[in-house]
Order: sequence, then structure tokens, then C-alpha cells
Amino acid sequence: MSSPDCLFCKIVAGDIPSTRVFEDDVCFAFNDVNPQAPTHILIVSRRHIDSMDTATQVDKELLGHLLLAAASIAREQGFAEDGYRVVINTNSNGGQTIFHIHLHLLGGRPFVFPPG
Ligand code: 5GP
Ligand code: ZN
Repeated sequence: MSSPDCLFCKIVAGDIPSTRVFEDDVCFAFNDVNPQAPTHILIVSRRHIDSMDTATQVDKELLGHLLLAAASIAREQGFAEDGYRVVINTNSNGGQTIFHIHLHLLGGRPFVFPPG
């Protein structure tokens, strides 16, 4: 379920401190240590999955859960109506640095597209 050397597994377990924003039985959300927007929250699954690239049909419900958690947190934080960005970096070209699947929820400023 968890991966011994994974930073986000350690954050989920509370072995590494984080600023928690939300949690439930499936996911854990906390502030990014290097925020790229006024609000930058990471939403991670409790269960270790490396990336979108290794997710399978078994993870379908979990992936939907993470997206709905992002939408719910955005409303709770008060920037849903203004708008926000949800990002899932995947593998090297996608800019993924932590190989435990996570959503970036970014809010509080406008975002350009394409993101670069
Ligand atoms: P990725 O580049 O894999 O999509 O995103 C990893 C994110 O994790 C980065 O935005 C980075 O700032 C964040 N991050 C890395 N280490 C830590 C940490 O120890 N604590 C927190 N809260 N965020 C981290
Ligand atoms: Zn992990």
C-alpha cells in the first residue's frame, strides 16, 4: 500500500510534517512547500501509485475521488468561482519529480495556457 522510500507516503503517514488542508479515507491534501500561486495544494492518494502512467482501471474510482476532492477544496478555499488550475505532472517531460501520484491545485491568480 505504501512505498518505504516515498516522500509522500511518509507525509501521508505523518512521519514527515506537512500543513494539512483536507483528508479523508482515500486522499490527503497539504500545502506545497514551494508554492507557485497564492494557494498551491497537493492532493495525494493514501495508497501509493507511482504516476498517471502506472494507474490502471483498478484506480478509476480513486482518480475520480482525487478530482472531486480538488473541486471541493477549491470551493472551500473560496477561489472556485474565480477559477483555478489542476495539474498532474507525469514522468520526465511532464515535470514529475515525486513519483507518488498527486494533483496540484493552484488558485488565487490567473493562469496562462499552454502552461509551458
Ligand atoms: P511534481 O514536480 O512531482 O509534480 O510535484 C512535486 C511537488 O512536491 C513540488 O511542487 C514540490 O514543491 C513539492 N514538494 C517536494 N517536497 C516537498 C515536501 O517535503 N513537502 C511539501 N509540502 N511539498 C513538497
Ligand atoms: Zn508513496
